[in-house]
Amino acid sequence: MDYEYDRVEVPTDGTPVEVIDEEADELDVPEDPIVPIIHGDGVGTDVGPTAQRVLDAAAEATGHEVAWMRVFAGESGREQYDENLPDDTVNAIDEFHVAIKGPLTTPVGAGYRSLNVALRQTLDFYANVRPTFHLDGVPSPVSEPGQMDLVTFRENTEDVYAGIEWEAGTDEVEQVREFVEDEMGFDETIHDGPVGIGVKPISEYGSKRLIRRAIDYALEHDRDSVTLVHKGNIMKFTEGAFADWGYEVAKEEYGDEVITEDTLWEERDGEQPDDAVVIDDRIADNMLQQVLTRTDQYDVMATMNLNGDYISDACGAQIGGLGVAPGANFGDARCLAEPVHGSAPKYAGQDKVNPTAMILSGRIMLEYLGWTDAADLVRDAVEAQIVSGEVTYDIERNREDATRIGTSEFADGVVDHIEDLA
Ligand code: NAD
Repeated sequence: MDYEYDRVEVPTDGTPVEVIDEEADELDVPEDPIVPIIHGDGVGTDVGPTAQRVLDAAAEATGHEVAWMRVFAGESGREQYDENLPDDTVNAIDEFHVAIKGPLTTPVGAGYRSLNVALRQTLDFYANVRPTFHLDGVPSPVSEPGQMDLVTFRENTEDVYAGIEWEAGTDEVEQVREFVEDEMGFDETIHDGPVGIGVKPISEYGSKRLIRRAIDYALEHDRDSVTLVHKGNIMKFTEGAFADWGYEVAKEEYGDEVITEDTLWEERDGEQPDDAVVIDDRIADNMLQQVLTRTDQYDVMATMNLNGDYISDACGAQIGGLGVAPGANFGDARCLAEPVHGSAPKYAGQDKVNPTAMILSGRIMLEYLGWTDAADLVRDAVEAQIVSGEVTYDIERNREDATRIGTSEFADGVVDHIEDLA
């Protein structure tokens, strides 16, 4: 097959993933898929290559092979091509459908858009998915971290990620103020003097496709409930609409496969049918309490962008923090796995930080490829390594029985466990 890449190499020993049905998210995955990888900036140079090594070991142990295609962005993009986000990188992720990236630094200064936001928006990765579950041996600030097993589906293209805002003191913001006050009638609402204004779009299309994905996941993975999180008591037409559209999509498209919390109590005295997912909703601030106090009652959560960022970070803290929190972005028939953490520049290149978050992000990618045996192996091997007590600094400092090792030694241990467990 001919590819149109000027500057990166397409591996000749791999086969591209093909799409069978884009809307149904159905892929034809070969045994040797071509998978683009961005190692990432800062600590990405540590966790990127080590995670790649662990994923290779898991693939090999289960009879598969990943044909990695190294692509560049951020610092590596600037070094190689003098570009933050070269077209070849975007095109490769687009063309090969399944990819993984390490963290990218957002340079400080006017004119720099977050590369992460740019990538997610350009390729329409509309769902940011963050599974939070506890691994044995990871220290936690709560007494029963094992109760947490919650998957967040966070909308990735609207709300604050739409980026519609105007700076105080500009002509643009004064035009918006005039429109809001004079034409829309909010004449007593905005204080006099300099003001910044942002617009928060929440669409039916954006909300429904995200919530659909969360419900599909709950059904496929035998989860009990999907909770719609919002602040609709204050923002009725944006956050409230998100919840309304969520109930609408559930009722109109899923029939008996779902049951709303109201119906559950009105008609069944709270007793959940075995084969239906409960759809409920919670106000966002309450949800931050609920995940702490009633942790095990929540399974899958669908959120808008900003709420999802806050709540999933809080959930991440409960299971051990950024070093172990994985994530992935999904669009129709595409996946870009990436850890929740950033590039942590002060630890860059020190072979020090925890590669678990990046490795477990790779595990989500393996699941998406349909390689559940490899994905399970990765999780079990990482857990076995952590239980062994030879761990990176972030875990070691909160455990009395542990020995501190570096990123690559930790990955060596995980690879050994993969070989033992396979
Ligand atoms: P960060 O996540 O990079 O680091 C915050 C702190 O978390 C670190 O100082 C460290 O103590 C800890 N930490 C992070 N990763 C760890 C790991 N793997 N193991 C152990 N400890 C870990 O957040 P930040 O300092 O706010 O951001 C740094 C840069 O990363 C910024 O430029 C930011 O824009 C970017 N960022 C990128 C992404 C992404 O690429 N998806 C996400 C968040 C932040």
